[in-house]
Amino acid sequence: MDDLITFLNDQYTKDERDVGAPEKNYEGVHSRWGQRRMVAEIAVKRLLLRGHRPGHFAVTWDTDGEPEYQIACVACCVDVNPEIWPCRHIRLLALPYADQAGYREEWRIPLDHPRVGSVEVSGSRPA
Ligand SMILES: [Zn+2]
Repeated sequence: MDDLITFLNDQYTKDERDVGAPEKNYEGVHSRWGQRRMVAEIAVKRLLLRGHRPGHFAVTWDTDGEPEYQIACVACCVDVNPEIWPCRHIRLLALPYADQAGYREEWRIPLDHPRVGSVEVSGSRPA
C-alpha cells in the first residue's frame, strides 16, 4: 500500500471517529446537519481515493532526451500525458491534512500548479 494512500485513509478514520463520537455535543456549525454532511464527505473522499493508485509505468524524457521510467496513477494515466504518482487528485485530497503528523512536504502541490487549475482557497487567489 502506498504511503500517501495509507496516510489519507488514516486521516479519514480519525475524521470518522471525531464526527461519529456519541459523547460529542454538536452545536452551531457542528449541528446534526453538519455531522451528516461530514460523514457524507468522508465517504466521498474514500470513494475518490479508491480509484487512484500507483500502477502504470510511464515514460518521461529527461533533459538529455533519455527515457525515464516512472510509476503513474492508474486512474489518471493518459497515454500521451502520464500523471506521475502521486497524482494531483490525491495530492489535493491530502492538502487539508498538511498540518497533521505524517504529512510529507513532497506531497504538497501548489495551488497554481498547471494541472490544478485556478482555484480560490480561503478567499485568496494563488499568486
Ligand atoms: Zn490519480
